[in-house]
Amino acid sequence: MTGMSTLDSPELSRLRKRMLEDFVVARGIRDPLVLRAMEKVPRHLFVDEALRERAYGDYALPIGDKQTISQPYIIAQTTQALDLQGGEKILEIGTGSGYQTAILSQIVDHVYSLEKIPQLGRRARKVLDLLRCHNVAIRILDGTYGWKEEAPFDAILVSAVSDSIPEKLLDQVREGGRLILPLEEGESQHLVRLLKTEAGWEKEVLGPCRFVPLVHSSG
Ligand code: SAH
Repeated sequence: MTGMSTLDSPELSRLRKRMLEDFVVARGIRDPLVLRAMEKVPRHLFVDEALRERAYGDYALPIGDKQTISQPYIIAQTTQALDLQGGEKILEIGTGSGYQTAILSQIVDHVYSLEKIPQLGRRARKVLDLLRCHNVAIRILDGTYGWKEEAPFDAILVSAVSDSIPEKLLDQVREGGRLILPLEEGESQHLVRLLKTEAGWEKEVLGPCRFVPLVHSSG
């Protein structure tokens, strides 16, 4: 990521450091790759200009079309759950603002991201271009079908909640790879990690969470 000097400021960078200390590190996130990426990516560019100062607060913010940019901690928790080493090929379902896409693009080799709402996908593309995140491909499509042409992926991250695992995604994870997704059971949501092994899937529940719904298209 280059040319950042015009897109960032010392004040915003200070707010960003404080965000990391108070809301991310304080809650136990330790992965240095995640922390470094979140320190580098100017989160304020992914929200409306009027909300810039609030971009470093401990909450989700509206990004239009009834969608939100996730709370910083949720971004850190889900990215850490992917257990990245660098060099991976990742599929993200639900580009939203593109903020997490940018974080992932700092860590891995290739990010493929699917977004259902055209306006959001287009806006995310613009910000990612501004930040020169050239290892990101975005498509406006229903993500529950995955991205077959580019499969298998080292990991898939689903950033919207549903009550079942989109089956097509399971086939698109390589053996040894991971699928991270929020699952809904009644009133509660839990973040789940599925590891694809030779013998089948290992499931781990990582903790409670809160996401917007994954919208399945009919048919
Ligand atoms: N991590 C993102 C937040 C994503 S919000 C950020 O920080 O900005 C979830 C996104 O998933 C929304 O943009 C929503 O439009 C999208 N979404 C919901 N259902 C989808 C589907 N079936 N396919 C692709 N995207 C979907």
